[in-house]
Amino acid sequence: MKSLLIANWKMNPLTLHEAQKLLESTVKASNAAREVSVIIAPPALYLIPLRAGYRGKKVAFGVQNAHFENTGSFTGEISMEEARNAGASHAIIGHAERRAMGESNEDTRKKVAAALSLNIVPILCVGEKARGYEGEHLIFIKEQLRAGFSDVAPGKVARVIVAYEPIWAIGAEEAMNPRDMHEMAIFIRKTLVELCSEKAMGVRILYGGSIDEGNAVAMIRQGDVAGLLVGRASARKEKITQLIRAIKEV
Ligand code: PEP
Repeated sequence: MKSLLIANWKMNPLTLHEAQKLLESTVKASNAAREVSVIIAPPALYLIPLRAGYRGKKVAFGVQNAHFENTGSFTGEISMEEARNAGASHAIIGHAERRAMGESNEDTRKKVAAALSLNIVPILCVGEKARGYEGEHLIFIKEQLRAGFSDVAPGKVARVIVAYEPIWAIGAEEAMNPRDMHEMAIFIRKTLVELCSEKAMGVRILYGGSIDEGNAVAMIRQGDVAGLLVGRASARKEKITQLIRAIKEV
């Protein structure tokens, strides 16, 4: 089965040289894994040099965030259009760490629409902080999905990728149980079909949160996911190599 791997390097590594070495290892591993598609989201500063130095077709590049406005007085931001011009084909939107810095559902709505208008694939992250006994987290996820998909035209629904990342499993010691992910994938699919019609059957659903080479295969096999969004393990050469090797024949 074909798996999608989003490598969210976050604010790593510290130098361009190290970023080039990390890219080299990731590319080498993905070239040997025909069934794995890799999208690398480096710190935005490295995007242009990394893209320029990469000659292959196997790996694509993305940004970890971008503004919904095209241009203007937004100090410290980069726009979707700038990201696209720098070589990004994907954009992570609504990552939990961005939401913790103030990104709202309304922002994600505008960012998803901005990305699609430029032919950038939005990777919409959703996930609850904690789970209650009465399923409150499901209402929370539904709201995040509703907002993210509100301005998506029916013909573009299936271009959006949804990454379910429960906040309690990001940067944690353990990933979520794959059986629980399976249930969540069913819930997300059902919600999307309600919101966007049958077109939502084509949306790829990923899992993210403390994935490494040890738990990735079980998550893909039992979690009903099309791939993984990986943080820490994607920013270490040995870890990403082992992870890609592990999932290459799932
Ligand atoms: C993430 O940054 O989205 C993430 C899943 O991080 P980690 O893999 O380190 O938990």
